[in-house]
Amino acid sequence: MSCGRVAIVGAGISGLTLGYWLKKANVSVTLFESSGRVGGYMGSERDEDFVVERGPNSLLDSTPAFQSLIKELGLKDRVTYAQNNSKERFLYLEKKLKKLPRSFFEFLKSDIVETPSKFRIISEFVKSFSHTDTQETIFEFATRHFGNEIAYNIVIPATIGVFAGDARDLNFERAFPKLQKIEEQYGSVLRGMMKTKSAAKLFSFQNGTQELVDALYENLKNEILLNTPVTSFQSSSSGWSVNGHIFERVILCTSLPSILKTVANLQNQWPKLKKKDVAPVVSVSLGFNLPLSTYGFGILIHPDNNLKTLGILFPSNTFKNRAPQNSHLLTLIMGGTFHPEVTTWTSEHLITVALSELRQILGPIPDPVKTWTFNYPEGITQYNSQSSEDFDMLKRQIQNQPGLYVNSHAFGGVAVGDCVYKSYELARSIAPRL
Ligand SMILES: Cc1cc2nc3c(=O)[nH]c(=O)nc-3n(C[C@H](O)[C@H](O)[C@H](O)COP(=O)(O)OP(=O)(O)OC[C@H]3O[C@@H](n4cnc5c(N)ncnc54)[C@H](O)[C@@H]3O)c2cc1C
Repeated sequence: MSCGRVAIVGAGISGLTLGYWLKKANVSVTLFESSGRVGGYMGSERDEDFVVERGPNSLLDSTPAFQSLIKELGLKDRVTYAQNNSKERFLYLEKKLKKLPRSFFEFLKSDIVETPSKFRIISEFVKSFSHTDTQETIFEFATRHFGNEIAYNIVIPATIGVFAGDARDLNFERAFPKLQKIEEQYGSVLRGMMKTKSAAKLFSFQNGTQELVDALYENLKNEILLNTPVTSFQSSSSGWSVNGHIFERVILCTSLPSILKTVANLQNQWPKLKKKDVAPVVSVSLGFNLPLSTYGFGILIHPDNNLKTLGILFPSNTFKNRAPQNSHLLTLIMGGTFHPEVTTWTSEHLITVALSELRQILGPIPDPVKTWTFNYPEGITQYNSQSSEDFDMLKRQIQNQPGLYVNSHAFGGVAVGDCVYKSYELARSIAPRL
């Protein structure tokens, strides 16, 4: 059966990988991209030997699909893994920097929680829990397993590290489906994690994530229309009309606000976007031309410190070749659902606030020699409990339209690895011979 012509709206990592696999299966694809470049949130800039990421800094090679993609694109030798000295992670809690424990014994010795909470870890390991409330938040789930203090001191900032959002709003099942399966199968998160320990490693490419974006672009450049936002979209008797061209199938690979905008005219009763459904974020990178104290992979920042910074990454400590010799690159992720206003600030103001908060956390540091800011007002989709019925309804209503699909971080996982995996699965369902 012919798969017909397929339109892909958005050439971020979701659209690009989907386009790659569909093309490989001999499906005729056209990618519409509103901006002048592909990659969406993903991509890097090289500036005097600093390699600065626009968005994602590190990827996880958790699925065979991602690994074969890298091999097929000829990038296997370009992969660079996180260095050993980036294994440590820190937490800024109650205005103090604390090392996050990496083993049970380190946890017993650490001052992140009081002694009774340490016993909760032991009891979680031996008890069996079961999950019945589909609306349970990440915070409620963590409290049920580990008690309030661990949920508050550790799980809240750790969730910010993934979603830039609040564990007290995010729906556990939607945000962490793999963890839900672990609970279902083993009853205990700790027991389950020990049994299912994955060998997946954090990685990037020698010149940053741009290498993956460039390789996908090279493969698809004749199929991509840059500077071509989808502005007119409707169903027609012969298929779907996208900017006046007819396609048999259309796959929306954009952010949640953009998906809602694209489908707005199809029917009247789409769910309305709530304020906390997306976490606007800004990535601020600072280059220093002298050695600095670094803190492993990075520092999670508890929202109780009331800073605009959600976390600090140390890319030049994590990967080789991110900064010139004796120089350092730091990246601050700012805003999120806690401080969405940062995406309206000027670059100068962002850098001033970033430096002031950095000095509060790390102590005196010199002015940077280089600065970069990347602004994402449509940010990271939040799988909030309050909106979960709306999201389910949106997805169902889209799926009910023959030939219309969604495939982006807006549903089913925000990590790049999730986006790549979802693209592979969708491509296989459209072209089963893949
Ligand atoms: C600052 C930041 C740091 C992150 N760090 C990590 C990390 O370290 N590791 C990790 O795994 N994940 C990370 N993420 C998450 C991850 O980067 C994203 O979830 C993922 O890149 C999203 O890809 P996507 O293709 O689904 O969407 P996008 O990248 O948003 O791509 C959508 C594309 O659609 C285009 N578009 C929008 N509307 C239209 C339209 N109407 N017509 C045509 N084109 C349109 C946009 O221009 C864009 O190119 C981070 C995200 C951010 C913002």
